[in-house]
Amino acid sequence: MTEVAWYDEVLKRKDEMLEELKEFLAIESVLDEADSGLGAPFGRKIAEALEYMLKLGERDGFKTKNVDGYAGHIEYGEGEELIGVLAHVDVVPAGDGWTSPPFAPEIRDGKLYARGAIDDKGPAMAAYFALKIVKELGLPLSKRARLILGGDEESQWRCMAHYFEREEMPTMGFSPDADFPIISAEKGLLDLRFAGTNEKSEAKDGEWKLVQFKAGQRVNVVPDLAEVKLAGEGDVFELKEKVQDFLLTHRIQGYAEEGNEGVTISIKGRAHHGSEPEKGLNAALEMARLLAAIPLDSAGRQFIETINRYLVDSFFGEKLGIAMEDEFTGRLTVNAGIFSYEAEGERMIRLNVRYPKSGEGEKICEAIEEKLADDHFRITEIDHKPAHFVEPDHSLIRILSKVYEEQTGEKAELLAIGGGTYARVLDVGVAFGPLFKGREETAHQRDEHIVVEDLLKATAIYAQAIYELAK
Ligand SMILES: [Zn+2]
Repeated sequence: MTEVAWYDEVLKRKDEMLEELKEFLAIESVLDEADSGLGAPFGRKIAEALEYMLKLGERDGFKTKNVDGYAGHIEYGEGEELIGVLAHVDVVPAGDGWTSPPFAPEIRDGKLYARGAIDDKGPAMAAYFALKIVKELGLPLSKRARLILGGDEESQWRCMAHYFEREEMPTMGFSPDADFPIISAEKGLLDLRFAGTNEKSEAKDGEWKLVQFKAGQRVNVVPDLAEVKLAGEGDVFELKEKVQDFLLTHRIQGYAEEGNEGVTISIKGRAHHGSEPEKGLNAALEMARLLAAIPLDSAGRQFIETINRYLVDSFFGEKLGIAMEDEFTGRLTVNAGIFSYEAEGERMIRLNVRYPKSGEGEKICEAIEEKLADDHFRITEIDHKPAHFVEPDHSLIRILSKVYEEQTGEKAELLAIGGGTYARVLDVGVAFGPLFKGREETAHQRDEHIVVEDLLKATAIYAQAIYELAK
């Protein structure tokens, strides 16, 4: 029985780890399909971030493999069985309002600030150093341990689909991409795209024509900005006054501005992870609430009515008639993440629905489609990931619980989340950290950060976890 001072081993490597993590975070690894190419399916920056990690692995004497730029791995040990640790190198777009530039990592008050600091480049680096510690200590393993890094987690998970078509499935594993202690259940996920074609419609006297409605960049993020263009002969003064009144009474930031081609209205919301839509401020939904009080052309009015009828004040699917909950995985949630409307062109809404373990994805799709069909929308895309669950008495859970309890002195409760982590692509997988209880959740938000002390603690936990699982 080896007694290893895991945390001390991390401290010995602290400076090196932070140095490399900063370099890694400085790569703006946001999905950019316009910049894709051979070996870089998600854009050159994501490919660069993946390659950065694999290079570290090569330098430190691990077996590495780049699987066509979709994903890659860093492996240590010998044996038949394989333990997987799954993390991702892509990040969501930075958004506005950062205190320091999102891709110029900076440590202030013991916190490392950067896009990706906690989701998920920080944890990926922690897992890498964990593997490195196990290797450098020369601990005997009977299984192989493999850090698997994907490049498309924040969008469509094409990385893992591609990877697991070509590479073996680990016996079991974990993903450092959520909360401690252990997340043994994840809700089912539905990304739905609804679209339709707008009929030709003109603004009548006193009405405004809805020319364009735009909000949101990612379906799994609460939109923090909504912009609308109106045209017509309506009363600009009265319109501006209505907008001002709305903004004041709802304490929302925004403006209305007259230009050559009409009036632009802009509303600022507050971004938040799509698994907790009620905690953000959805700029698009607020815009729809505002426009409900403004006379619009018939096609525009219909679009706004749909949003108000089914989505406004309905974060738990109440108005869509799909509300449900169960004891362990909680309530169904609906994030209305992307909106787009072009007069005489397409109307489009994308929803990110997360449903409890007891729900059925197909039935939920049918129910929503039925409602929206009346409003000239139909489903044009479905991305479905069923709910994921590992039994509490599985050896994976027993081992991770033991490690967590030994290192933190706290009970390793099992949690359920609405977020989808890579854990669900594993046959047997859980999410394990890195956010400790009571810490602020900043993933997908401005000023994303990880507490440096927590990063070190997580690294120590991962190192022991890898060892205990693979020994
Ligand atoms: Zn993540």
